[in-house]
Amino acid sequence: MLITFAASLSAGQISVRNYRRAHERQIIEEFTRLLAIPNIASDKQNIRRNAEFIREMMQRRGLNPQLLEARTRDVPPAVYGEWKVPGATHSIVVYAHYDGQPVDPAAWTASPPFQPTWRTAAMESGGQIVSLPASGEINPEWRLYARSASDDKAGVTAILTAFDALKASGQTPALNIKFLFEGEEEAGSPHLGEIIDLHKDLLQSDAWIICDGPVHQSGRKQVVFGVRGDQNVDVTVYGAKRPLHSGHYGNWAPNPAMTLARLLASMKDDTGRVTIVGWYDGVEPLGEAEKRAIAEAPAYDDELRSQLGLAKTEGNGKSLMELINEPSLNINGMSSGDVGALARNVIPTTARAVLDLRLVKGNDHRQQVQRLIDHIRKQGFYVTDHDPSDAERKQHALIAKVIARAGGYNAERTRMDHPISIAVIDAVQSTSKDPIVKLPTSGGSLPLSIITDHLRTVTLTVPIANYDNNQHAENENIRLQNLWDGIETWAAVMMIKPKN
Ligand SMILES: [Zn+2]
Repeated sequence: MLITFAASLSAGQISVRNYRRAHERQIIEEFTRLLAIPNIASDKQNIRRNAEFIREMMQRRGLNPQLLEARTRDVPPAVYGEWKVPGATHSIVVYAHYDGQPVDPAAWTASPPFQPTWRTAAMESGGQIVSLPASGEINPEWRLYARSASDDKAGVTAILTAFDALKASGQTPALNIKFLFEGEEEAGSPHLGEIIDLHKDLLQSDAWIICDGPVHQSGRKQVVFGVRGDQNVDVTVYGAKRPLHSGHYGNWAPNPAMTLARLLASMKDDTGRVTIVGWYDGVEPLGEAEKRAIAEAPAYDDELRSQLGLAKTEGNGKSLMELINEPSLNINGMSSGDVGALARNVIPTTARAVLDLRLVKGNDHRQQVQRLIDHIRKQGFYVTDHDPSDAERKQHALIAKVIARAGGYNAERTRMDHPISIAVIDAVQSTSKDPIVKLPTSGGSLPLSIITDHLRTVTLTVPIANYDNNQHAENENIRLQNLWDGIETWAAVMMIKPKN
């Protein structure tokens, strides 16, 4: 079929599309083989099979791949390769990760996580299991179900196929392209810093451009300039040393569930604003370009509210996009005593909560934890990092054990008026008829600060997956058209010519 609707695409971009059209089966075949290899980072044997498979993919393409090992033993290696451009003095790292979130195969509907399976549409809208037709065009609305179909083996496939398409049509980038596929992202990238330090020369570049996450809910392509930081904190408060009969002791023995409820309620007001002193201090204000991008983003909040069954949202009328540029405080879960079939008339001994502190540029995760602790103290609590001794119990009416979990990290954001940002915005826009969405900060978190703490560079994210891809959950999937669009997006990203 001849391209008739792509008048705005350049000749180079049309050849990328034509390459994909001519090689759909081949692309899908390689992609499904990759998806069939279990990829939980803690599954040492299989995770290495993924790395080897990707190394072979890159070997076939002449990208001189190598496995970058950490110093720590038994860490999934990063797979690295290079497209060296004669005369180019600048470079970008293009990044995706090949590991996936843990799976509960019993929760998957009809097809297990590592058996890639086609459906005619999303399962929720009645998509039926089908097999690929022997020949002819594959319906781009079909979805491929498997762990990491979207997050993030689609990234690996889109990037390497974009390379194939550029190479086959004789297009040469202006920069050296360094490919990096990490194997531990879903585990929080605990060794990425170590790998970077061991291979600093290879990994130094003008920018790291990340292929991960979904496009905008409206289906428009987007470029994301930052991510929130993240820090989890466990809070435990205490009642009597043993559970008490609620009839014999109610009204007399303090109930830790009530104590915790009061404490947590003191942290936010009715509009969802965090009332902890200093919570919003130090936040780096958004620049003009960032504010404009938020104002121009598609208004999607009403649609989301109705999809989610929410009559009212927090933030005093601010939009979702505005609010994700502010630090947050979430209760991930709380527990005390039992409910349901196990419910008993008892005064429990403890109440626990896990808090999730999302951070934005300008916050420091250690300082945010300190503000939380100061607030808890101000409510009259004795704050400790261990279960209280008898002496401590006698001395303090209110005791809170507060533990900041390991693995917290800060937010990261690249200015939208940085030359690389401008070049990437133009590149992604050039592949789309609709205005793309520019997101100053994603709502989610990635440890991108690991990269900028260890290298002098900036990070940008260019996602490709459908927003309803069930990433991290059962029945993860990718809509085929998103993979096809992603190849075109990433070919354009590799062809950027930043002015600096
Ligand atoms: Zn991911």
